[in-house]
Parts: sequence; C-alpha cells; structure tokens
Amino acid sequence: MYYCENCKLLCHETVCGECGKSDLRPPLNEDFCYFTECSEDQAKMLKEALKSEDIPCALIPSGSGVRSALGLTLENMKVYLPYGFLDRGQELFDGIFLPPLDETEELKALLLENQESWHVTGFFASRSIRRKLGIPKDHDLAPTLRPLVQSATNIRDEGLISSSVVGGHYLIVKGEKYDLTFDSVSFELLHVKKK
Ligand SMILES: [Zn+2]
Repeated sequence: MYYCENCKLLCHETVCGECGKSDLRPPLNEDFCYFTECSEDQAKMLKEALKSEDIPCALIPSGSGVRSALGLTLENMKVYLPYGFLDRGQELFDGIFLPPLDETEELKALLLENQESWHVTGFFASRSIRRKLGIPKDHDLAPTLRPLVQSATNIRDEGLISSSVVGGHYLIVKGEKYDLTFDSVSFELLHVKKK
C-alpha cells in the first residue's frame, strides 16, 4: 500500500491513479487519508462517533465551483481519517449507516439493469481501474464486473456526487475482493478498492 500526499489517497501502485504522482511512499499511521464523501449530516454523525473514541478526522466541504459561486449550501463533505484509524472508522461508519437488505437488492437490480452503461473515464483513473481488475485496454468491463456486482452483499448509496450536474449519487458495492464505486446516473465506474 502506498500514499499520495497530493490526493491524500491510498494507492496499490507506486504511481497515484488520480494525479499520476510517482515514487509514492508507504502510508504512516498518522497520514490523513480520504475515507468517504457523504452528506453534511452524515459527516456530523460520523464525527461524533469518532470523537467518542478519540479518533481525529478532517471534514472538507466538497462542492463544485459553480455551486459555490452561486452561494448555495455545499451539501457534501469529504471525510479524511488517519491511516491507522481507517478500519475502525469503517466499522463505525457501517454501524451507523449500513442500509437494510432491501436497499442492497434494489441498488443491485439498478446496476445490473444498466450494465451496458458501465464505463471508465480519465486516462490515469481508467488505467488504474483496469489494472486493478485485470481488464485489458479496449475490453468490455461488464463480464468482469457483473459477477462482482451480483455477489455483493452490501450496496449503499453514499449521497450526491457534488461534481455531477445530473444529480448522480455514489453507489458503493462492497464485495469480497473489491469495493466498487459507481455513479448512479451515468454508471461510470469511479473507483475500485482492492482488498
Ligand atoms: Zn495523487
């Protein structure tokens, strides 16, 4: 595991999938890492839960420039946790926000109905996602992704994507080997976390 100081992201390779920075170093326990993006209310609840265990966190408003310029309230927060507390943070998050099973089944059906729209964009991001999943360039994503979505035991809606002009939400598909993040409107595969 490596850490990009620019993006505050954990990477599986020594090159950052987001910004392309190379020669990444391994993470230290105190490195603040991107944990999740959620609504302001959810972020506050999570912060309280973390505070009760003396776990520090950083909340950064996440809004598009357009919305900020219009003076609208920023609805989403990006949450950062120290590397050493990511696992505990996930347990607390799941404890508060884990959806009932029917939400998983509903979101699974939505994703599978739209599998023809599954895609990746961005040079660094698509290269990194394809590499993680072992899908060669120009090959269709669906044959590899379909079983991962079908076998997922937990799919949840993590709120509005602030950069999405059409109101897409983050759909997180939790699987045995991978966590996948989809846009609920464009069905772009935004992120893959290998376990
Ligand atoms: Zn980076």
